[in-house]
Order: sequence, then C-alpha cells, then structure tokens
Amino acid sequence: MKLDDIEVIRIDGVDYDVSILDESTQVCLDTLGTYDKRNRTIKILDSGEKVNIQTLWHEILHAINENRLNGELDERSIESLATGISQVLFDNHDFAVACYMADVPDIYFEHDDDPDDEEEGDEED
Ligand SMILES: [Zn+2]
Repeated sequence: MKLDDIEVIRIDGVDYDVSILDESTQVCLDTLGTYDKRNRTIKILDSGEKVNIQTLWHEILHAINENRLNGELDERSIESLATGISQVLFDNHDFAVACYMADVPDIYFEHDDDPDDEEEGDEED
C-alpha cells in the first residue's frame, strides 16, 4: 500500500478526501499541503513518498489541532510533531504494523488460546 492508493483518511470520525498532486496539476499549492475543513479535503504536493507522508501528518495535525486543541498548536509545533511522528513510524516498522493490527478485528487472526473459542466440539453426557 502506497500513500497514493489512499483516497480517504478519517480524522476524529470525519472522512477527508486525500489527493497527491504533481506540479503540473492545475491546482497550485504554495505549500507542501493544504487542509480544508469545509470541503473535507487534504491536498499534498507530490514530493516523494516520505515527504508526502510527513506532509499528510502535518495536515492531520491541523485537523486534530482544530478539533481537540482549540488551535493551541502553532505552525512550528505542528511541523515538529509531524516530523517526529513520521520519523518514529519510519524507524519502527513493527510499531507501524502493530498500530494497524490493534484495530483489525481478532477474527482475522488465529488464536489457539482464545477462552471464548467453542471449537472444542460438543460434550455429550
Ligand atoms: Zn501547516
């Protein structure tokens, strides 16, 4: 899965359309990314996969900042957090996968020690 394959990202329960734009696109971005709360869109100027992911985090943090922090974070704080979070995920692949696995229903994974497992068969008296 590449970032380009992600069309929608849910932030605090709201779905935002995500688009990666190259420089030839008509829509001109004067920054690496934009977050538009009203139209529920996030646009990212294609700058390579890692920078794009960092930019997406930046725009996600703008949304969280509005939703949960009353805009307390300034631009510098948002950029620092976006860079820091991205780097932790780049440096810890297992953690990134664990984040994914934590939200996938258990039914997709085999559990031999599941106490609710009733596959033992019927017990007849
Ligand atoms: Zn910003």
